[in-house]
Formats: sequence, C-alpha cells, structure tokens
Amino acid sequence: MATATSRRALVLVLAIVSAGCTGVSSPGGVGSGAPSNRLTSTGAQPTAPPTVWPTATQSQTTATPAGTYGPEATTPSGQASATPVTTAAPAPPSSPPSSPPSAPPSVVPLPTPAGTDVVFRVPILMYHRIIDPALAPGSLAGLCVPPPVFQAQMDALVRAGWRSITMATLAADLMAGTPPPARTFVITIDDGHRDGLTNALPILVRNGLVATYYVVTGRLGRAANLHPGDLATLAAAGMEIGDHTVDHVNLARLSGPALALQIGAAADRIAALVGSRPITFAYPFGDRNPAVIAAVRAAGLLVAVTNEASGPVSATNRFLLPRLEVRPTTTPSFLLAEMLWIAG
Ligand SMILES: [Zn+2]
Repeated sequence: MATATSRRALVLVLAIVSAGCTGVSSPGGVGSGAPSNRLTSTGAQPTAPPTVWPTATQSQTTATPAGTYGPEATTPSGQASATPVTTAAPAPPSSPPSSPPSAPPSVVPLPTPAGTDVVFRVPILMYHRIIDPALAPGSLAGLCVPPPVFQAQMDALVRAGWRSITMATLAADLMAGTPPPARTFVITIDDGHRDGLTNALPILVRNGLVATYYVVTGRLGRAANLHPGDLATLAAAGMEIGDHTVDHVNLARLSGPALALQIGAAADRIAALVGSRPITFAYPFGDRNPAVIAAVRAAGLLVAVTNEASGPVSATNRFLLPRLEVRPTTTPSFLLAEMLWIAG
C-alpha cells in the first residue's frame, strides 16, 4: 500500500504531466497541477474541544453575527475552533435530530449534527455539461466534457473501486457523523442542461453510479435545458435534484425577499416536480456571503457546495463544501490520483 508521501509524489508527477498536455488554467481545478491546496484537514483531533452547534431554535431566532458562517469552526489542522458558534451544549451523539416545540412553525428546523465534527475524505466532483463543445456553442469549451471523455473517467473510477453517493446522502452522513466507506465520491452536474439526461445519465446508469443535478429552475424547458418532466425521470433513476436557484444570479448581490425567493422558489418548483424538497444547494458561480448562507439555511437546506477545491468536507463546513472541477482535459489517471490523494 502506498504511503501518503509516495501518493503525493505520484500526484505531483501526474500534475506535471497533465499540465503539460492539457494547458488547463483553472485555479485549484482538477487539472491545475496544484493538489497541495486540496485537502487542508486530516481529521478530527482527539484533543480538540467538541464542536458546538446551534440548535434549531437558536439558529432561527437569534441574530447571527457576520462571519459565523464561514468555514465556521475548522482550522487547517482540522481542529475545532476555540470560538464556538453558540454557548449551548452539543447534542449527545445518541440524540436524534430534534425539532424544539418553540421553533417558529414557518421555519424548517435544522437537524442537530451528532457527535463531534469529522472530516470526510470524500471527493466531490463538479461537472457542468457532458457534451462535445462543438455542439454547445453557447457554453465555455472548458465546461463541456465530451461523452467519451466522461465515460472514460467514470469507467476508470469504477474499475478502481470507487462508488458514488448523492450530495443528499453525503449530507445525511455528515449530520450523523458517519463517514461513508473508503473510495466513496460524489458527482455533481450543474445548471440543468439536457445533456445531463441524454448523455450523462446512460453512462452513469451503465456504471451503477448516481449523481446530483443542480438545476436552475427558471431555465427548465429552454432549448438546451432539461424539460420540467425530466426531473422526475432523473429522480426515478436514483439521481438527486438539487437547488441551484431560479435564475442563476449572483446571490451575494441580493438581500431580503429577492434572495429568499431565488433559493426558496427553486426548492418549491423542484418539490412540485419530483415530489420531495431538495436538501442540498449549489451557489451560482460559487458567490455567497454570510447573508446568503443564512438564507440557504433558512430555506431548510442542509448543505451547500462551492466552486472551490479547498476546504474540509465536514459537518462544520457543510455550507461551504469544496468541489473538484473536472474538465475535458482531465485524464482518468490524473483524476484517479487526485481522488486517491484526497482519500488519504
Ligand atoms: Zn451554475
């Protein structure tokens, strides 16, 4: 079994090779050749104080100072912060998520994560389109992974023993404090283009994989986008439909009802189309601020993903979960090496 050091060396070698043949430039992207910033935590430290969580009542009725919601209580060493979010005692590990009777009825209560925070070594992949760029003139070529490339990437991962879960399953695992088995990863496909159904889904199903589709509900039915009825088709195939707002706007520029509507109305539309309300969210362009994160929480969403590759996958950081961008130039061998490095 390779040591962590030798794995890192392998990734560095592959990074050099990949950079030479792909010319990718996305900072921190899968093909960026900069794996050193991909994983900043190594797991919960036995000496760390237990992470303290807001209860549903506190999180909904108490004003939260700016800065509370960032990578809240996690340092690069993986230790819990010395500055807890609240002074309330953490829920005991055996306690199920609870909904205090004092919670306002119009607010979806947040489950209380169980136990102390644990960093999951689970890569979350970020795709946008699975299509030949020549067939997608309106999209950036770097966001278009041709189906044969996607298939080669998925085939290689499955052959190497990787299995996927949805973001919803990862969210449940985070809340329970139970890391999934080794070589578990997540596939996310943003924006709701129709090639996610016509090109990606058959490849996913053939490989026994699941993915989370982050859909922009205001674009449903447009020429290159999923039709409203497609969401139920994807859900029936085991895929998750996640919230990616109504109009794919920069949420950091909104506030109040306009901000809440972008998140909440998209969730309502998805619920109406697939029969269950989404519990995971992706920030358009990755843009957010503390008010945006608070609005995501208030809408009842449990986790959210960014467009950045660095940061821990942990309950504490669950509204800023990192993703690895997979590009058309990402070779299966590089992708595998990167994922193994994250998996430790
Ligand atoms: Zn997007």
